[in-house]
Amino acid sequence: MCRTCESENREIWTYLNLPNLPDIKVANWVSLEQCHDCETLWCEIPYEPYASFKFLVKWPYTLEDFNSISKIEDSLILHEWHGSFIRENWQSLSRKEVAAINTWRERTYMNHNPIDRNSAEHPAKYILCADDIRQYV
Ligand SMILES: [Zn+2]
Repeated sequence: MCRTCESENREIWTYLNLPNLPDIKVANWVSLEQCHDCETLWCEIPYEPYASFKFLVKWPYTLEDFNSISKIEDSLILHEWHGSFIRENWQSLSRKEVAAINTWRERTYMNHNPIDRNSAEHPAKYILCADDIRQYV
């Protein structure tokens, strides 16, 4: 197993214990990072409040895919995918990480985050569930 990013065992890192990975590409509030040990790609987005809650989601496609998708509407598709992936998978994290996510949800008033956001008020434009990104790669 990769000791740096644990890529075989996980798909999400929370702000609680992010691995320190170098950026290889930065778009509109989204960065693509690459593990220096196993070369796995991770997509990082900082969430409110104050962009101080960063999350990594494993990027299962290529740098080229990331580049072409990031050009559509200021990376909106990447943002919608990242939020959907967290919403669909956060409960599978460790108890500590789930607790950290609950702390973050409270800091956003159980509203301004991709888990609790009211989808009637803020409908997704491209990505209703994380798998929808397959249409763009
Ligand atoms: Zn790694």
